[in-house]
Amino acid sequence: MSNVKKRIEALRNLLTQYGKEYYTLDNPTVSDYEYDQLMQELIQLEDQHPEHFSSNSPTQRVGSTPLEKFEKVTHTTPMLSLGNAFSKEDVRAFHERVTESLQMTPTYVCELKIDGLAISLTYENGQFVRGATRGDGVIGEDITSNLRTIQTIPLALPTAETLEVRGEAYMPIQSFERLNEARAKAGEALFANPRNAAAGSLRQLDPKIAASRHLAVFIYALGEQGTLDGITSHSEALARLDELNFVTNRERRICETIEEVIAYTEYWTEHRHDLPYEIDGIVIKVDSFEDQEQLGYTAKSPRWSIAYKFPAEEVTTVIRDVELSV
Ligand code: NAD
Repeated sequence: MSNVKKRIEALRNLLTQYGKEYYTLDNPTVSDYEYDQLMQELIQLEDQHPEHFSSNSPTQRVGSTPLEKFEKVTHTTPMLSLGNAFSKEDVRAFHERVTESLQMTPTYVCELKIDGLAISLTYENGQFVRGATRGDGVIGEDITSNLRTIQTIPLALPTAETLEVRGEAYMPIQSFERLNEARAKAGEALFANPRNAAAGSLRQLDPKIAASRHLAVFIYALGEQGTLDGITSHSEALARLDELNFVTNRERRICETIEEVIAYTEYWTEHRHDLPYEIDGIVIKVDSFEDQEQLGYTAKSPRWSIAYKFPAEEVTTVIRDVELSV
């Protein structure tokens, strides 16, 4: 086997193992920074050596296999991942790909990238009937009873709509700190960060655990339009979701130029720690549904959106501080 092939295999094995620890077991053993670096190396090697392509590579797959203990939910449309940008240049390169494909500059919506767990909520005739995790993108775990315990998820909508929405369940920093203080007193293992605490709380069979953990959600997208007619853009969808009493994030911004997008990423790189919840980046989305459709999808992510990830030092410092204080 060539050295390149060996390195690719080694990276695939390592990233599959880390993915399982993070997504399935809620117990990561390396920092997100380390994971992202290895993933970038694998993406580059696979780009340079298309002869080693594999549809089983972690670069082509979303999340990880759902836990056996849960009922399974098949998503009507796949719940995908997002491509990553680590610098202004990466954001500009995304913009160039988009404008080249659309032959014009689209309107973008910029949002905070909440560091939690992706969820899908289904409503039938205005009633909340099912809630699921992303799982492997196609099949998720049924966590309806746990999600019912989250106060910010409406159990009934003001009108009898049938639709599916997507969002992020998260643990506010204050709840996380209180939880870890209580666990330390009880001699229990501490959670590494709010993301793992939220995921660990929702992926339990006993809903009393989730109920006691003070979780929250932000809804960030319409999954299936269902009975909601005539919505033609993401920003319109979010406005309708607000009217239906979903909690969306108010810090979103509509940007007409890529400079505005970059200014938004810079602002939040500076101010992320002012928020009462953790964010790990900014999500940039092309607003118009027609433009989104034209841009399409890769196996793993939409071509009309990208996640700008904040520089790494802060993330690793936070993780180290937690480890030191344990
Ligand atoms: P991602 O985190 O890069 O982006 C996709 C996710 O962003 C969505 O599924 C959604 O849950 C979330 N999101 C938050 N706010 C959003 C918003 N406003 N709009 C849209 N989506 C929003 O991709 P991923 O596949 O979920 O995870 C990959 C990342 O997870 C890695 O980059 C790494 O940081 C981390 N990870 C870490 C380890 C580890 O061992 N430390 C292992 C696997 C993954």
